[in-house]
Amino acid sequence: MNISEKILNAGIVGAGGGGFPTHVKAGAKVEYVIANGAECEPLIHKDYEVMVRYPDKVVQGVMLLIESTGAKKGIIGIKEKNKEAIDAISGAIHDPRIKIHLLGDFYPSGDEFILVYESTKRLIPPQGIPLDVGIVVSNVETLYNISLAAEDQPVTEKFITVAGAVHRPLSFVAPVGTSFKDAIAFAGGVTVKDFGVFVGGIMMGKLEFDLDQPITKTTAGLIVLPKEHILIQRKSRTEQSMRRIGKSACDQCSYCTELCPRYILGYDVQPHKVMRSLGFTMTGEQMWNQYASLCCACGLCTLYACPENLYPKEACDTAKADLRTNSVKWSGRKEVIPHPMYEGRRTPLKQLIKRLGIEEYNHPSKFQQKKLNSKNVNIPLSQHIGTPAQPIVSIGELVKRGQLIGEIPDAKLGARVHASIDGVIKSVNRNIVIENY
Ligand code: SF4
Ligand code: SF4
Repeated sequence: MNISEKILNAGIVGAGGGGFPTHVKAGAKVEYVIANGAECEPLIHKDYEVMVRYPDKVVQGVMLLIESTGAKKGIIGIKEKNKEAIDAISGAIHDPRIKIHLLGDFYPSGDEFILVYESTKRLIPPQGIPLDVGIVVSNVETLYNISLAAEDQPVTEKFITVAGAVHRPLSFVAPVGTSFKDAIAFAGGVTVKDFGVFVGGIMMGKLEFDLDQPITKTTAGLIVLPKEHILIQRKSRTEQSMRRIGKSACDQCSYCTELCPRYILGYDVQPHKVMRSLGFTMTGEQMWNQYASLCCACGLCTLYACPENLYPKEACDTAKADLRTNSVKWSGRKEVIPHPMYEGRRTPLKQLIKRLGIEEYNHPSKFQQKKLNSKNVNIPLSQHIGTPAQPIVSIGELVKRGQLIGEIPDAKLGARVHASIDGVIKSVNRNIVIENY
């Protein structure tokens, strides 16, 4: 069995949040494999811990992807500030084809377009993917999972950071399907009465109040904030209200565009023009919506750049959805030339953390060697891009950790799903619930 087949069997998907089935990437032919260790979501440090604790596995994952894709080189992107991770990974590299590329501490340096440019000076074409420039990008935890797949171990666990308003901010390993409630309790519980949880990060994650929701193969972190925190207040606004205040208060200062990481890299993303769509009828709207097509939803325009606290990122989200509904294809500028101010306009993470008002929570989330031992797990059949897996177990059946419980439907893009604990199947619908016996 080759490594692509082993990756498929192991149910590996992009662990950095993307969720793209990794066996598809492993089957491509490319020149470079890039390991994404940039990790730029504020307060999340689990990739750092993966690199410090398991450097051999990360490097082995790069080697296996080099082998399967026929790549000539491997590049591991790590922030210059993460000295321990750099030392650990350097010590694990024994092949001259693999090098470390040092990254500055900017947000969002983990964006694939930015990471590819920073480490190879190649520019992905508008609406393209790294493959278009001969590159495959994989998160460092995904690479760790690839090295386990080579030993026929499927994905049953997730590295995660739990931080913010909790007693002991931690990074640790938990079975896939563990509830937020159990994960937060493992971090000592919350320090405030009323709170919300940013799942996957403050900038690009979603706000959740239901603690029974499960950790999936793509959950990088849970950031707990008090309900009265401005970030929760802002995120809780209805779309209608965001549009209403945007329409009346946007003065077209264009700071959102001037600081947009995709715009400064040379792509035609102009959120201030998308904001104009709020005041237009359908016809005018579509013209302005086009400027959202290449937005990566990093959230910087809404949470950092806009002096009026408006919602250009959310306007871009709506614009992109409208373009998809109306099957409007992007027809903008094709050439990509980085802005002359690219270097100077990048957003330092430190400054972003200050602007977000989360400095008091910016502590190292220490790695807890002891794994969280969940008694119940609730495993979604869809934790990836593509078609949900089909359940192949029934209620009452006994399963072992690592056993296949969800299969990829015939000829579809998808990922296999495995039991993450020993137990009995309690329910099967869009999720499979297992209770430890
Ligand atoms: S930064 Fe804010 S006020 Fe300025 S153009 Fe963008 S959305 Fe409008
Ligand atoms: S969310 Fe805003 S800042 Fe980020 S890429 Fe989209 S338009 Fe640019």
